[in-house]
Amino acid sequence: MRKTLIATAVGTVLALTACSDNTAPQQTDTTQTQTQQDAAPVADVTTTNPLFVKSMLQYEAPNFTEIKDEHFLPAFEEGMKQHMTEVQAIASNPEPATFENTLVALEKSGELLTRVSRVFYNLAGSDSNPERRKIQSELAPKMAAHSDNINLNPQLFARIKNLYQQRNELKLDSESVRLIEVYYERFVRAGAQLTEEQKTAIRALNEEHSKLTNQFSQNLLAETKNIAVIVDTKEELDGLSDSQITAAANAAKEAGHEGKYLLSITNTTRQPALAQLSNRELRKRVWEASANRAQSGETDNRPLVARLAQLRAERAKLLGYDNWASYGLEAQMAKTPQAVFDMLGSMVPAVVANTNQEAAAIQEMIKQKGGDFELQPWDWEYYAEFVRQAKFDLDENEVKQYFEFNRVLKDGVFFTFNRLYGITFKPRPDLPTYHPDVDAYELFDADGTSLAIFYADYFAREGKRGGAWMSSFVGQSHLTGQKPVVVNVMNIPKAPQGQPTLVSYDNVTTMFHELGHGLHGMFSDVKYPTLAGTSVSRDFVEFPSTFEEDWAAHPEVIANYAKHYETGEPIPAELLQKVMNSRSFNQGFDTLEYMSAALLDMEWHSLSADEPLQDVNAFEAAALKKHGVDLAAVPPRYKSTFFSHSMGGGYSAGYYAYMWSEILAADAYAYVQQQGGLKLENGQNYRKNILSVGNSRPPMESYKAFRGQEPTTDALLIRRGLKTKVD
Ligand SMILES: [Zn+2]
Repeated sequence: MRKTLIATAVGTVLALTACSDNTAPQQTDTTQTQTQQDAAPVADVTTTNPLFVKSMLQYEAPNFTEIKDEHFLPAFEEGMKQHMTEVQAIASNPEPATFENTLVALEKSGELLTRVSRVFYNLAGSDSNPERRKIQSELAPKMAAHSDNINLNPQLFARIKNLYQQRNELKLDSESVRLIEVYYERFVRAGAQLTEEQKTAIRALNEEHSKLTNQFSQNLLAETKNIAVIVDTKEELDGLSDSQITAAANAAKEAGHEGKYLLSITNTTRQPALAQLSNRELRKRVWEASANRAQSGETDNRPLVARLAQLRAERAKLLGYDNWASYGLEAQMAKTPQAVFDMLGSMVPAVVANTNQEAAAIQEMIKQKGGDFELQPWDWEYYAEFVRQAKFDLDENEVKQYFEFNRVLKDGVFFTFNRLYGITFKPRPDLPTYHPDVDAYELFDADGTSLAIFYADYFAREGKRGGAWMSSFVGQSHLTGQKPVVVNVMNIPKAPQGQPTLVSYDNVTTMFHELGHGLHGMFSDVKYPTLAGTSVSRDFVEFPSTFEEDWAAHPEVIANYAKHYETGEPIPAELLQKVMNSRSFNQGFDTLEYMSAALLDMEWHSLSADEPLQDVNAFEAAALKKHGVDLAAVPPRYKSTFFSHSMGGGYSAGYYAYMWSEILAADAYAYVQQQGGLKLENGQNYRKNILSVGNSRPPMESYKAFRGQEPTTDALLIRRGLKTKVD
């Protein structure tokens, strides 16, 4: 599963980004609000602040060498001001509303604000620092108020409603009609039809919401440092590789603990180091640091979680809904909370049964290894690794030697997309980037047409949020003449200088996944910025990325990239078979920890506005029990206090979306294999019907255009090893 984030803020929006699991938080892809050109900013500021003018670099790629942190706030302030002036001019236009003078004008408005938002929110996620965090906190309530000032403007809404009512008589093309519908729905959902008194209440809730979600994220960022586990001796690290131990020693030194070792905590409950550490006490310390994070002191997120759930319920009630989940799902493919509970609930029995079998095998392994204790969450992965080896005889470190980073990227990911879509990635070392580890590429189509700029930011570093995601610095639009500038961000541990970076197979699939999102942005071929690329419903947005994951295991692809980093020998067939066989291993645990989190998210957002503030720990335990997913050894992938998807904003009542998207992805991949697999015809069909259309038509319509029918869940169940064949 992968995650994504989409944060919409506003009518104009902050758009989003998509990402991967184990990652997570919300990224904002910013966006659309655009501006007309008459914005003549104050002269002296314009001359010194590079954000005030369009970048002269190709496709308006930001000139990172010129942008300084002190440029952001003035650009945001001027951007909001210009945008508001433009919106007011549109709203108070004495001419009757036309598609051109209202919607096209809105699409062109907010140019400066869009530009600064995209640059800033990208850097705040991938390359943060104290100054940027401060700016972010200061901006949160201002941006929320700015959105409300647009979305709750009665004159503007009257014009949009007028166009909406006559949309089928205006003789517009289908994308333009879709744009009217998207705007109308957005305004209604933001509260445009409410009374003035209700609007005032909504504004107050929105402002509080923006502050709380921002505080929630900042607490987690602070926690990353607070909860890192400091280890005194090298002996305790038994099980880690030499380069991991060196990295832990370096990290400790950087943090002021020279001579010791620092294990940082990644953002899911489960921690990668737990699969390797033989010292049970240390495993417990690592697990507890993770699972109990943000539950004490100044960074206690529990009061925020309780209030956020309540606040969202209050907001939903004002808008006429029973709860936040009902409100949120109406705009998704799923449509209702019941559809989500049904989808997840139908899988619980099979998944729990699989997980219990896995737990029994692990308990047996503990016994075999001389242990006399009951399986605890911090034991699962360590002993699962022995079960895996016994069952599949697979050594992850041996496997990694065939997955050297550069080869995976060029001979795996780029190779696949060349075969499917005819595209090529050309390095552009001349373009400035925001960090030395980031590489710039230009994307070319099969006929040599230049399509986009792509930044590859794959390695972990301080100041980067955990996880993996995709975002845009510039969105595509034929209306504004802009081509996409897209980034992929991951947290692959980088090998020490002079050594090759070897990646896990999991990271290999994430590289395919994130560039799948990347292509969704870079193949976008629509007129209006609001409808471009990944601006689709969040239970659809993970489909294009998840679809690309399985190519990593396609025989032709793997033969091209899985070669030994020293000898260049292809991965032995037997070892490869083991890797593939082992993919169904631990699927009960993986699926259950995801589903538990998805159910927890749904329960938080099923509360009604009349209910009191909840005790977070008690609520969490009751929610898991209610759905029969409260297995002690398998906690949810995220607990409420660090569940950024759910509480941070972007994926509230939306974490289920990964599985929803995976149904589409598995069905699509299986269909393409029936059609001959890795070939241009398949790539063209997929690109034309799914990747290039953005949100310019309803998602199911796009899916049926590509596939010829709606998806079924068969391929998903087979993909996860929960079923062996189609009925
Ligand atoms: Zn994703």
